[in-house]
Amino acid sequence: MTETLPPLPELRSDCSACAALCCMALAFDAGDDFAIDKPAGLPCPNLDEAMGCRLYGRLEAEGFAGCARYECAGAGQRVSQELFEGADWRTDPALAAPMIEAFAAMRKVHEGLELLVAAGRLDLPEPLERERRAILAAYLPESWSLEALRAFVSGGAPTRLAAFLPKLRDWV
Ligand code: SF4
Repeated sequence: MTETLPPLPELRSDCSACAALCCMALAFDAGDDFAIDKPAGLPCPNLDEAMGCRLYGRLEAEGFAGCARYECAGAGQRVSQELFEGADWRTDPALAAPMIEAFAAMRKVHEGLELLVAAGRLDLPEPLERERRAILAAYLPESWSLEALRAFVSGGAPTRLAAFLPKLRDWV
């Protein structure tokens, strides 16, 4: 019998439930996609007091097509809500560093989940489907903490996924 896996988290961003992590944690370079340089870990100057974007709805026109295209795959709201219970780094600046670290790790988790979900839509032979589900289980623990995320990114699951993906070549 196939073991039932825990439910998947949302794999699309919900900015309304996120502490604007991409607008603070990520760096960007001025060019075609961004109108300005911004270092990692500093809030974008376009971020308003309510953690919204002043350029919302006209990002491309203002030279921020890279922001319009960016998709965290649901990692941002998950870090904000599940790990930090809705707290934000602006109210409590001491949270910025752990939130940045958790966001980077959770993006890896969600990128892996997206790949594993996409692989699940292929008509895989039974041994490969079993392997996919075993790796998926490692990406779906009951809960995450910063310590668990740290252990995850340096642990075996991402390596197993990296070794698994090339095996799908004949079914893509
Ligand atoms: S331009 Fe808007 S969406 Fe892009 S990083 Fe700045 S605040 Fe965020």
